[in-house]
Formats: sequence, structure tokens, C-alpha cells
Amino acid sequence: MTSTRDSIVIAGAGIGGLTAAIALAAKGFRVSILEQAERIEEAGAGIQLPPNATRVLRALGLTERLAPHLVVPQAIRVRAARSGREIVRIPLGTDAEFRYGSPYWLLHRGDLQAALLDAVTAHRDITLKLGVRFEDYAVHSKGLTVQMRRGRVALDQHGIALVGADGLWSTLRARLGDNSAPRFAERVALRATIPAETVSPELREPLTQLWLGRDAHLVHYPIRGGAAINIVAIFRDNWKGREWSAPGERQDILTRFTQRRWADAARALLALPDRWLKWALYDRPPLPRWGTGPVTLLGDAAHPMLPFLAQGAAMAIEDAAILAECLGTACRGKEPGDPARALRSYESMRRARTARVQRAARRVGETYHLPPPASLARNIALGMMGGEKLRERYDWLYDWRAI
Ligand SMILES: Cc1cc2nc3c(=O)[nH]c(=O)nc-3n(C[C@H](O)[C@H](O)[C@H](O)COP(=O)(O)OP(=O)(O)OC[C@H]3O[C@@H](n4cnc5c(N)ncnc54)[C@H](O)[C@@H]3O)c2cc1C
Repeated sequence: MTSTRDSIVIAGAGIGGLTAAIALAAKGFRVSILEQAERIEEAGAGIQLPPNATRVLRALGLTERLAPHLVVPQAIRVRAARSGREIVRIPLGTDAEFRYGSPYWLLHRGDLQAALLDAVTAHRDITLKLGVRFEDYAVHSKGLTVQMRRGRVALDQHGIALVGADGLWSTLRARLGDNSAPRFAERVALRATIPAETVSPELREPLTQLWLGRDAHLVHYPIRGGAAINIVAIFRDNWKGREWSAPGERQDILTRFTQRRWADAARALLALPDRWLKWALYDRPPLPRWGTGPVTLLGDAAHPMLPFLAQGAAMAIEDAAILAECLGTACRGKEPGDPARALRSYESMRRARTARVQRAARRVGETYHLPPPASLARNIALGMMGGEKLRERYDWLYDWRAI
């Protein structure tokens, strides 16, 4: 396959947009990514990547770039907030790798972004335009023209297809007719990373530790090859900020994670970070139509979800693999093929799965934050089911394959 093909234009260089560019370039397309930010900044937080996502990243040849930064968790350890007692341990590690054919990874978002960016800049068929904001597009007989802006200067670019990977507040989604606002979940997430040597050996273990409390939960796990610990505290709140790096307050967390409801070990961990970042949590209901003609959506722009299943970025990564597969098949050889048809098959292969994950993430969030006595019944049911059975309930999620 050759680079004689016309460009696919991607709006947004988040995890979804960067992965899609790498996957499309691997199929022989030229790709232009438009990113409004002047720099791809390291978002200071960890990310869990389940086997359905790591399978795609490995197939794209990213393992070597990522390897020094990874931690493979041996299990998800679910704990009760007040007592700290272990409710259940869901096995991952080699068990999960054997079952799903790919491992579960824990890493820093900055390390993932850096690896993706490295692969993007190393590929001669991918152009990344920073400081450029996508604004609009027009379809014509030769493909489409994308309109964008750098400061006050209006620019345009020709392509055969346009992919909106521009996140939760997607401009392209609105341009395609969905003017509804994202749905605020009345929850915020505070995130911090701290050096691993500042915590006890128990908290450094290669585990995702998940503490369930009333109207709140806490997740922590090692990242950066074990050199740092990522902490995420999620609780009910009305703060609706849109930014990715609003500062959070330690005192704010400690007044929510009270001594009455949270074990000393959890509170001691929450007292450690000097710097917290804060995110308001939003999702949207599943979208019946993602695109029209040679235009489509990908990642959070198409299906933003609550983070309770740790699958938002994973779904964007899956989208990228299927998008490349569909466009690659439709536009084989030197002819432009039929991108519009390819995009409709991509959407029909992705809609039901991503809608199911969006709904499941919402349900899981409700279960995590139950008050007593429902929380006691939940803990007993989880304990009785046992880790292996619980993991099997996620087979549909983790055992996904692009083809
Ligand atoms: C607290 C929390 C924890 C999470 N944990 C996990 C996890 O463990 N595992 C997981 O898989 N997912 C997780 N997620 C979800 C994950 O972060 C998102 O689903 C993922 O980042 C979406 O990637 P994206 O590329 O679709 O969008 P984004 O990352 O939002 O990227 C969109 C990009 O588009 C750019 N952009 C926007 N508008 C324009 C425009 N008009 N022109 C040009 N560029 C534009 C933006 O600047 C940005 O760079 C979590 C989310 C939260 C909030």
C-alpha cells in the first residue's frame, strides 16, 4: 500500500485521535491531525488499560515504547471503605493475559501520550498541526474541505474523510446536529500522583485497589514502572468545571472522606499528595447516528462515559482499530474507494458495543456508591460470587478483538 492516498483529517490529538492516526497510517493512509492545544501536555494522572485496549496498542507496535512505564496488576482488590476489609480480589496478571490473550496495564497518561506522540512524529505519512482549531467542513465532489483556525488566521485543508476525535465537548458533534449538552453526573474526580517510596509496601503492590464507600470511592495503583502511585478519589459534588487541570484541595477531600466512613489507611493516603487535579464527571446517552457522508466521530466525541469501568480511552482505542480496518478495506489500492460507506460500517460495528459500555459504566457507578444497608448486601454478594466469577462477568468487555 502506498501514500498516494488522499488525507484523512482527524480533529483532536487525544488518546483516540493519536491512536487512530497511527492505525490509519499503518493501512497506508496519509493523516493530518488538527489539535487546538499548542502542546500535547502531560495530563497528570494514571490510566488503566484493559486487555481489549492493550491488544490494539500491541498490534500497532507500541509495546517497546511503553514497556519501561508499565505495571501489570496482579488483581483488582476491592475493599470496604470503613473497615478496609478486603471484599473480593479479582485476578488479573498472567491469568487475565492467558484468558484474554493480552495483559491489563497500569500507566501514567503522560507516558501513554508520549509513546503515541513518538509513533506519530516518527511516521512520515502523519502530520500533526498544533495550535489549530477545527471549525467546520464542506463536502464536495472531490472529497471534503476542512476549515480551521490558527489564532486569527483561517486555514483549510482537503481530505477524503474527517474524523472528530475532539472529546466530550466536540465541535464536530454539534456541527453534525447534536446540540445537546453533556450530562453532569453530580460527581467529581480528584487525582494525584505521588512517589512510591512515600507509601507503605502494601500500597506499592502491583494491584488496582478499589475502596467502596457511601457516595464515594477511592482507587489507587502503581504506575511509571512502579515508581509512582496514582490516586483517584471520586465523590458527589456540584462543581461542573470543564477544564482538564483545575486544582483540587486536600482539605476538600478529607472533609468528604471522613473518619466516620473511611479507614485510617485510606485517609492517610489521601493526606499525602500536595497537588490534586480535579475533573467534573459527564457522560451522554448513546448517540443513534455518529456521522454522515465522509464524516464521523470517535472516542469521547461519540460516546463519552463515566469512568467507573475504566473503559473510556479503551473504547477510543478500539474505535481507532475498527476505523482503520473499515477504511483500509474500502479504499484498497490507489483509488479513493468509498469512504462514506466505510464510515457507516465502522459506526455499525461500534455503536452497540460502545452504548453497552456507556450504560454499564453508569450502572457500576450506582453500585459503587450505594448507602447501607444496600452496600452491605452488595459486599456480601461480591464476596460470595468470588473474584474469578466476577472477572468472567467482564469477558464480553475484555475478550474483544478488532477482527
Ligand atoms: C477521572 C477519570 C478517570 C479515567 N480513567 C480511565 C481509565 O482508567 N481507563 C480508560 O480507558 N479511560 C479512562 N477515562 C476516560 C478517558 O480519559 C477518556 O475516555 C479519553 O481520554 C478520551 O479520549 P479522546 O481522545 O476521545 O478525547 P480527549 O482526550 O478529550 O481528546 C480530545 C482532544 O481534542 C482536542 N480538541 C477539542 N476540540 C478541538 C477542536 N475544535 N479542534 C482541534 N482540537 C480539538 C482537545 O484539545 C483534546 O486534545 C477516565 C476519565 C476520567 C475523567
